[in-house]
Amino acid sequence: MTEEEPRRLFAPWRFHYVSQEAAGEGCIFCAAVGGGRETLTLFTGQRVFALLNRYPYTSGHAMVAPIAHVAEFGLLDPDTLLETMVVAQRVARALHVVYHPHGMNLGWNLGEAAGAGIVDHLHMHIVPRWRGDTSFMTAVGGVRVIPEELEQTWSKLRAALEDDGVEKDG
Ligand SMILES: [Zn+2]
Repeated sequence: MTEEEPRRLFAPWRFHYVSQEAAGEGCIFCAAVGGGRETLTLFTGQRVFALLNRYPYTSGHAMVAPIAHVAEFGLLDPDTLLETMVVAQRVARALHVVYHPHGMNLGWNLGEAAGAGIVDHLHMHIVPRWRGDTSFMTAVGGVRVIPEELEQTWSKLRAALEDDGVEKDG
């Protein structure tokens, strides 16, 4: 990481995390399917589920992933792709209600070269952004400044999703 590439989402702490988790401990996404507060799972649908990122770039950083352990974006079937976007939209709505972000990044990091921390299980990131937010500084400094506990974030977003009509099933 150099200062010449400040816009790349880069999080040094994730390497530690990944090296721990990837050492045969199993897939954290698969383990979070159908979960709740403990796994920070916000919602589990038919084909996809949503969860909070344990190492968020900003408060409310969520992810939507297929329930199936799939690494290849090209292998996702149309129904799963559609449900991914529908659930991403719900999560984005909940984030707007709870956090009023100025903007949001939605995207996939496909492959290690693209910044994916976990390459074996596809997932889409939903990152609330604020003008002048600190995610770049925290990434460069390797120190996360997340002003809110993850469980609080989970509770608020979960409540917002339920208010929005998402069934309570996790
Ligand atoms: Zn998996």
